Amino acid sequence: MSALPEYKTRVLLDNEKVPLVEGVFVAAGAELPDPLPEPPVYLKAQIPGATSRAAQGLVRRCDSKEQLESGLKQLLAPGSWGQAEGVLVANSVNMKGEYYAACMLDFGNADELPHGVLLFSTEGGSGVEERAASLHKIPFSLLNLPSADDLIAKLGKVAGAQAIGKFLEGFIKTYARYKLIVLEANPIGVLEDGSLLVVDCRAEFEKQAVGKKDTELFAAAPVTKEDKTHLERLVDKVNEADPAGTGFIRENREPAPEGAWRVATNLCGGGGKMLWEMTTGARKDIYTMNESDTSGGLSAFKSYRVLRAILEMEDSQVLLLTGSGMGFQNQHYVAAAVWKAIRESPTPLPALLRFGGTDEDKGRELIEKVAPSLPVPVKTYMPHVFPNAMVDDVAAMATKQRIKVTPEPQPTGEPSFRVDVPPGDFFFFADKWDKDEAPPCVGACPNNFLFWNAEQRTVEPVEGARCIGCLMCEVVSLLEGNGELRIRLDLPEVD
Ligand code: SF4
Repeated sequence: MSALPEYKTRVLLDNEKVPLVEGVFVAAGAELPDPLPEPPVYLKAQIPGATSRAAQGLVRRCDSKEQLESGLKQLLAPGSWGQAEGVLVANSVNMKGEYYAACMLDFGNADELPHGVLLFSTEGGSGVEERAASLHKIPFSLLNLPSADDLIAKLGKVAGAQAIGKFLEGFIKTYARYKLIVLEANPIGVLEDGSLLVVDCRAEFEKQAVGKKDTELFAAAPVTKEDKTHLERLVDKVNEADPAGTGFIRENREPAPEGAWRVATNLCGGGGKMLWEMTTGARKDIYTMNESDTSGGLSAFKSYRVLRAILEMEDSQVLLLTGSGMGFQNQHYVAAAVWKAIRESPTPLPALLRFGGTDEDKGRELIEKVAPSLPVPVKTYMPHVFPNAMVDDVAAMATKQRIKVTPEPQPTGEPSFRVDVPPGDFFFFADKWDKDEAPPCVGACPNNFLFWNAEQRTVEPVEGARCIGCLMCEVVSLLEGNGELRIRLDLPEVD
């Protein structure tokens, strides 16, 4: 089942003449309309399947032209929510009441054919679908759709039944015409004269059910390749090869203000982004080089590759990594990715690192242990430290001139074995391990993916086990062994 964003759901409703609040859709990457709609208006980022949009700041009221312009700019750019297809700018309306309506499918049973079900309530607002007592539940045939009069009769005594019946007739027609799985309008605004219009809506559909002539109506808006920088495209390719979790960067297109510290960020999740914006939003002396998000259970292999892209941003002076302090991914693994990225990058940055979440102590300990061997200074912070303290250290840590180093050489040639997802090439160097027992990398693997073949004197993958790309084997090999196991994580080619 796929979700259809509001602006596309509106087109379907409009095709059946269901009245809608006035609005204009601004696609990501397109010119802004001239003139812009007159405030007050609501901006609604269009992201298929997004829920709790208001809580995430994806729905905003704008009372002035300035608010409208800056809100559009923010919501049209990628954020922790990813890249919106665009923004719906919807007029504000005076309503005397709110209704709720939804159509869904009932697959029926042995005694009953599949049919549609209309849910209608004279109460709108969130949570209405849970208040079963206030809902009218009206089954309807998909082959013989109910007329306005049929619906009025089924609704019984409801004030404004004529307007409601007419409205619901078009609503059900839309649902049936496009073979939707769910169609929801919440709220439906009730105007002073008793007429109704859809204020917010969404739909869900099955791709296979979309008719050929309607393909365009259901297609997602593409974000053009030309809009993206080389590093953004590189991260896109990383995601293609290793889709689990979020790995995202977007470089800031605006020039850095004179004299501001240029901070490359790796913000882990929406919480990290929110904290960073709260900390630096009003500061003119801090310029954020990029937006970023590494969260949602991504592998350390992917964290490493995103970090390598972040470290490549020209003109950056310092790297800052932080989450909200409740990171979902294991922070020891994140620290392993940071260590690897800094030691293998030809353009490493001094780093301010705040690990928070599972194994945060181990993450911090790892970085503190390896810090003396790194080509740049690094500083770690406890998870309860607010990013203000990190920002206070930016000036002392930032490099005035971009550091360029020749990083340690990567293993070359055919790997001992290869993992496809998350992608990594494993090299075992038998000449660096002269003992009979298994090298420490074998016991370090949390997924029992590695096996010591004592006869062949090599490390092999265990059939049926899975590599989660955590880097623990390489960390242990470097710190407790002789570097006998190394992982090469190539960066994708970008045209
Ligand atoms: S082999 Fe094991 S320790 Fe090494 S990266 Fe894969 S899961 Fe992690």
